[in-house]
Amino acid sequence: MLQIIENARLKDLNSFGLDVTAEQLCIYNSPDDIRQLISQNGDLTNKRILILGGGCNILFVNNFDGMIIHPANSGISIESETDDYCLVKAGAGTVWDSLVEWAVEHNLGGIENLSLIPGTVGASPVQNIGAYGREAKDAIESVNVVSLSDGSLSTLSNADCKFGYRDSVFKHELKDKYLVDSVVYRLSKKPQFVTHYGSLSGEIEKLGGPSLRTIRQAIINIRNSKLPDPKVLGNVGSFFKNPTVGAEEAEMLIAQYPDMVTYPAGEGRVKIAAGWMIDHCGLKGYTNAAKTAGVHTNQALVLVNLGGATGKDIVAVARHVQNSVANEFGIKIEPEAIIID
Ligand SMILES: Cc1cc2nc3c(=O)[nH]c(=O)nc-3n(C[C@H](O)[C@H](O)[C@H](O)COP(=O)(O)OP(=O)(O)OC[C@H]3O[C@@H](n4cnc5c(N)ncnc54)[C@H](O)[C@@H]3O)c2cc1C
Repeated sequence: MLQIIENARLKDLNSFGLDVTAEQLCIYNSPDDIRQLISQNGDLTNKRILILGGGCNILFVNNFDGMIIHPANSGISIESETDDYCLVKAGAGTVWDSLVEWAVEHNLGGIENLSLIPGTVGASPVQNIGAYGREAKDAIESVNVVSLSDGSLSTLSNADCKFGYRDSVFKHELKDKYLVDSVVYRLSKKPQFVTHYGSLSGEIEKLGGPSLRTIRQAIINIRNSKLPDPKVLGNVGSFFKNPTVGAEEAEMLIAQYPDMVTYPAGEGRVKIAAGWMIDHCGLKGYTNAAKTAGVHTNQALVLVNLGGATGKDIVAVARHVQNSVANEFGIKIEPEAIIID
């Protein structure tokens, strides 16, 4: 049943832990809830709306003067299976990591490298979440959506979602037009392990060699040792995307900065580690004058709420970081975090 809260506090619904409010918070459980909202308000695409999962990639600059729809429909079910794979459906409100844990327990592979990413299933296709050499797009079969104009249901195939680096059709043509109700993943009964990324293979060996369980545990160990826990220090993980440049520009940069961290990005382009550039600017541990917001002391890509920060404080730190990187390298780094004014 649809639940509507007026002047709702969002402190527990954004991982920066910002103490902001929304004019209305609507807790979504089924497509009927959207139909009810449309019958009360008309076409929702004409209103100021935000769909909010766990708020683990969102920076609220101000109180939100509109309607927030928060999917709470959780649940995991097997839709069909063959000898090779299972099609597994999860509701948008399911905690992402509980789906990964469920998959590993059921010996189904494909999302184990995405262990411990905070947030909900509903955001996984929107963001095309990724880590340790895998992305959600590698496992997504289809996405069931509800239209915010008329409440109708439809299904998008993997190709329809136009996945890219932390990107999908939901951030472009379909932005604010559809709510993701559930996602169907194709999970393998004969998984191919991806273990080459960074320190992962060494950690897996310590746990006895590759299996779905050891890969998940290795990633949990690494993430817990590297990333600040949002419950302790508000953050949204990587605040900036890694920029890409052409091969010629990359060559010039590497000649000037021989220890610059780069990766091949395909199609002759080169990805530059934004964290390395921020670190090179001496910004690890940088804080604003009020010491409410800053750059994490160990992870240059992570901006943190040091206690009592406002969204504006964090935006100011982000601007300072962007300007420093642009002055030093001539490269504009773009936020991965979604900034809501
Ligand atoms: C400590 C930490 C580590 C992180 N590490 C990673 C990482 O390794 N890899 C990675 O990819 N991300 C990472 N993130 C970012 C974050 O976890 C992901 O972006 C995640 O998908 C956010 O999920 P959410 O439910 O909180 O979405 P939100 O932040 O609430 O929303 C994200 C976007 O999705 C939209 N959205 C959410 N739910 C729906 C829905 N049901 N229908 C339509 N639109 C929807 C929102 O409108 C918004 O545009 C990290 C974050 C933190 C705090």
